Amino acid sequence: MGCPHQCVFCDQVLITGHKDRTLSSQQVRERITETLGYKGKHRGRVEVAFYGGTFLGLPLSYRESLLREAQGFVEKGEVESIRFSTRPDSVTSDSLKALAPYAVQAIEVGAQSMDDTVLTLSRRGHTAADTRRAVNLLKAHGVRVGLQIMPGLPGATEESILETGRRVAELKPDFVRIYPTVVVKNTVLEKRYNSGRFKPLTLVDAVDLTKRLYLLFDACGIQVIRMGLQVTDSLLEPGNIIAGPFHPAFGHLVYSAIFLDLAARELEMQKKLSERITLRSHPHDVPKLKGLRNSNMSQLIERFHLKELHVLSDPDVPANTVKVENLTGLARFERI
Ligand code: SF4
Repeated sequence: MGCPHQCVFCDQVLITGHKDRTLSSQQVRERITETLGYKGKHRGRVEVAFYGGTFLGLPLSYRESLLREAQGFVEKGEVESIRFSTRPDSVTSDSLKALAPYAVQAIEVGAQSMDDTVLTLSRRGHTAADTRRAVNLLKAHGVRVGLQIMPGLPGATEESILETGRRVAELKPDFVRIYPTVVVKNTVLEKRYNSGRFKPLTLVDAVDLTKRLYLLFDACGIQVIRMGLQVTDSLLEPGNIIAGPFHPAFGHLVYSAIFLDLAARELEMQKKLSERITLRSHPHDVPKLKGLRNSNMSQLIERFHLKELHVLSDPDVPANTVKVENLTGLARFERI
């Protein structure tokens, strides 16, 4: 809702799993109450989030009715804050002023690309300059700023995707989400794909590009809070994803690729490599080091001609690090 354009890749009904786009105040209240009940007394921080459209493009009265409902929970101390996603060109001084009575602490902007040709081919209806202007306004307004980008849109190349990453990093958002472009049913992109006018990224290329973007943002201190589309029941129904680099564990694939590079780099640096190697990582990182279905293990064994490869979980090893047993080197994330 609230979108002045229909972007070529978007069918929000499928992506969010909601057919009825209008939420009444009562539905908002019920949804929040239900979630709070589920979380129980020992809940952590709770945020009410409005996603799946252009929040600041909604009619003011409707936008305010949603915010008022969420704000009631903030005032009762049951919810800490509110967040939403919106288009860059919907962020104006006036639309931000209207948020003053509400505890909106984070706003996510769908930048998608910082290449104007890509934005035009995707029928976004805004430019990269709109994104820069929106981020500056949001920062002046004092909210946390998130940027969403979509590698693999029409017209995008490897270089333009990485350049988008660099330009986004220059804007210093508080966090980013990376959603490689997937062809969803009933979209313009589906028609272009079927007629051969659009070719999505392969899963391998999408993982590699997302890895490079992740490392770039990580080196700049920008948190990456999501990689790959959120899985919803409707998205998973057969026939709804037509083509493209969709994987239910996409983020895990990216982390695994990063850890494969770390382990390989560390092993390459050893002057004399034993045929029996043990790698250590922090317990949280062990699944990333092993890879999906131990794929990293088999690749390392083959590449380094190992007879045995073991991975040990070690709480003393810092996060994002791979240590080769009995050797002093520590491989950590590096900027591309
Ligand atoms: S602005 Fe966002 S929600 Fe609206 S059509 Fe485009 S991608 Fe979909």
